[in-house]
Amino acid sequence: MTPETERPSSDEDLSRRIVHLVAAGEARSRSELAAALGLAPSTVGLRVQALIDAGVLHERGDGTSRGGRRPRLLGIDEAAGVVLTADLGGGHARVGVHSLSGALLDTRSIPVVLADGPEPTLAAIGDVFDELARGTRIRAIGVSLPGPVDIDAGTVTQPSRMPGWPGFRVTDHLRERYGVTVAVDNDANLAALGEHRAQLGTTGHSITVKAGTAIGSGIIVDGAVHRGATAAAGDITHTRIDGSGDIPCSCGNTGCLETVASGASLVRQMRERGWTEVSTTADVLALARDAEPEATSLVRTAGTHLGQALSGVVNFFNPHAVFLTGSMSASEPFIAAVRSRVYEACHPLATQRLRIEAARTRADAILFGAARWALDNLELPTAP
Ligand SMILES: [Zn+2]
Repeated sequence: MTPETERPSSDEDLSRRIVHLVAAGEARSRSELAAALGLAPSTVGLRVQALIDAGVLHERGDGTSRGGRRPRLLGIDEAAGVVLTADLGGGHARVGVHSLSGALLDTRSIPVVLADGPEPTLAAIGDVFDELARGTRIRAIGVSLPGPVDIDAGTVTQPSRMPGWPGFRVTDHLRERYGVTVAVDNDANLAALGEHRAQLGTTGHSITVKAGTAIGSGIIVDGAVHRGATAAAGDITHTRIDGSGDIPCSCGNTGCLETVASGASLVRQMRERGWTEVSTTADVLALARDAEPEATSLVRTAGTHLGQALSGVVNFFNPHAVFLTGSMSASEPFIAAVRSRVYEACHPLATQRLRIEAARTRADAILFGAARWALDNLELPTAP
């Protein structure tokens, strides 16, 4: 279900909603926008004009009249430039080029060594940006960094994950090279934003859990990332799971979700059971796909543990949806176990309209989110 219409709370919010409604084809004219947003046509008209002046929207001919003047149809000005995105991971970076409506036009993957430091890594990504942009006007850049990020400073904040990066201003560095808006955030938040906007638009609440070799999650409130007081919101990884066997976790505690439900923990458990040839999450998932009983049972148990951790969050936060991404989300027994545990453990009111499903944006969730985040930060003229 689509969340109810909520009035935008600021000019920026209004611009974002207008661009989303037009890009999604949910509103094609000023009057349809006014109706969808519950605002006066004059208010919407001023914002639309500002977005036309900024080269984001354009008029693409006349629609059908329902009596009176024919409405001028609005569209995203696809000729007005592109958004570039990069998702930096441990061994490789995925780089994308998007239209101004956020649609992914093309991607590349390149090997990167984050330990080489920010300048060589960003130079390699810049080369791919130049190739993908092919002379079109670059309007904004969105970058996903692995690990905690200070989005205002545009820096990585946790030294252990990325030596040489903390304190280096990724946003300033790229802005100097390209002269456009640059927005950064961490992978979990951007995956959540990408999937949420694709499914629920700019309103509504959701949680997106990335379940792969490691587990992470991002929270979306009213269509925007919820970061919390110290940008630590959404950390489901170190939720304590009862009956998890008190396995030591990288955080120093024992019995965290990560130790029983991550792909890495499945590999460890398979090896403990004598499956010495199993070395990656993909190996475990392949065995489960072939209905190997031990692997299937471990994948199900991992889903039940994740469902257990999520049930407290779902009861408390009452989201419209829980989306699952990462390699484990391709496993139907895993999703089924998460779903059944959440429905069993939550109050019926909290799950009445809840969707729990694999993310539709799949491996590109982060790139979609980075494009949306860059577009949200696109500098637009202020209200006239
Ligand atoms: Zn932990």
